[in-house]
Amino acid sequence: MNLPDVRPAVRALSDDTIATRRDLHRYAELSTEERRTQRVILDRLRAIGAEDVRACADTGATALIRGKLPGPNILWRADIDGLPLQEETGLPFACDGATVMHACGHDGHVAIALAIAAILQQSRATLAGSVRFAFQPAEEHVGGAQRMIDDGVLSSPPVDRVFGFHIWAPARVGQAVVTAGPVFAASTHFRIIIRGQGGHASAPHTAVDPIVVAAHAVVALQTVVSRAVNPEETAVLTIGRIQGGVRGNIIPNEVMMSGTIRTFERDVQERVVERATQVLTGVTAAWGAAFQFDTSTLPAVVNDPACASLAAGAAAALLGPENVLEGRTTGGDDMAYFLERAPGAYVMLGGRDPERGDVWPHHHPKFDFDERCLDIGVELGLRIIESATRS
Ligand SMILES: [Zn+2]
Ligand SMILES: [Zn+2]
Repeated sequence: MNLPDVRPAVRALSDDTIATRRDLHRYAELSTEERRTQRVILDRLRAIGAEDVRACADTGATALIRGKLPGPNILWRADIDGLPLQEETGLPFACDGATVMHACGHDGHVAIALAIAAILQQSRATLAGSVRFAFQPAEEHVGGAQRMIDDGVLSSPPVDRVFGFHIWAPARVGQAVVTAGPVFAASTHFRIIIRGQGGHASAPHTAVDPIVVAAHAVVALQTVVSRAVNPEETAVLTIGRIQGGVRGNIIPNEVMMSGTIRTFERDVQERVVERATQVLTGVTAAWGAAFQFDTSTLPAVVNDPACASLAAGAAAALLGPENVLEGRTTGGDDMAYFLERAPGAYVMLGGRDPERGDVWPHHHPKFDFDERCLDIGVELGLRIIESATRS
């Protein structure tokens, strides 16, 4: 690719990129229900003349742009789903009336990836290798990344490197956050059932009250992070749901709790789960109750150092070195599965409008981003791909 030619192409597509983002925003769809979104993506990929345009992972889409020159195979991933929220942005293209909202920026991810694909398709004569686009459904819920991998998105042709963006509200537009190593945390969802023995609330000595046991367990579990994890490491343990009992005069049989553990290093994750198990064993034994502790873990998003360095170099060339930051988040993202299978980098693209005082976080009903980050994303994506196909 000839880089000096990229910016006019990005500018020429700019109105279209914004219009695409707004259209997807207005018609946001929930995880695994992205039928219209999928149709828009497939139509656009066919219209630009991409190869191997097809549905993938039920409601996702994929296509291949094959360069004329030999080179590596890159995967560009964009997630496409919205969230179950009633939008409060007041934007003219808000998802009015519906309780689905693009409150994480995935509408922008799709718009950026479609523009990158269109420009790459026009640049095939000078493109070395190929770029496979993965428009991934169900990032927010269920886990569409693994389904795309099961559907062969990494295998034809075999992918050498993986890249993608997450628009990032904490960073302002014109900045990029590029970090080697773990960048999004491993996320361990857990469910605990405390089993006691129900009875009459007036005679607790004849029962094993799971509510009292659960109350002790909640407090004791909060000591796992503070007492069992090295203060220089990061760990979070949150119980977000607790459910038990039906009436004030009945001691129930059991209490259910669910929550999440966030960590960056595998040994810390294992230690937190192990200590939580010990705490539950001790607390339940003290009252003669039993417990069940089920966990499922989404791994951390781990950037390959060489790929992160390549992306940081591309970002510094475009945005200036002072606008390339390092940082990581205890949020999770199933981009992790792609990066477990091939080296790559997940880049956070600054989306905060510096003029605006109100900065609403991702997943907030007022979340929005500065649309200037779209063109920046398209150009930076092309530069990253160009650099990755050359090296
Ligand atoms: Zn999200
Ligand atoms: Zn997201």
